[in-house]
Amino acid sequence: MIDIEQEAWAGMVAHAEATYPNECCGAMLGSIDGDEKQVKVSLRLDNAAAGSQAAYYELRPEDLLRADREARERKMDLIGIYHSHPDCDAYFSQTDLKNSCPWYSFVVLSIQKGRFDHANSWLPNAEQTAAEKEELKWQKS
Ligand SMILES: [Zn+2]
Repeated sequence: MIDIEQEAWAGMVAHAEATYPNECCGAMLGSIDGDEKQVKVSLRLDNAAAGSQAAYYELRPEDLLRADREARERKMDLIGIYHSHPDCDAYFSQTDLKNSCPWYSFVVLSIQKGRFDHANSWLPNAEQTAAEKEELKWQKS
């Protein structure tokens, strides 16, 4: 289960809406207790995809390292990555699966016509052949 605190969630939604019609991406920092994850901070990262950013996102490895460092400085963990799907459902695509890491949660925000619609969290398996849905909660403002 992944639970996203109000300020972190508001930041993710604002980022996804501002980046529309392109995809945004970012990191989620917080604490992990067993399979209970609490996201306290969301961090905007650059979409470094060279092609169409309306359909793809790409993280730079150094940005991910920076997010990991920032988490440790705040005595938190890097829990996962979020990205948006403009005018698309919050499913986990084959590309998402290929670019995933099995130890992170992947939150996908569906943005329809520029506004937040729904979101899902995904847990890829170790082989990156499938992802299962993780229970996702967020705290509304
Ligand atoms: Zn995606």
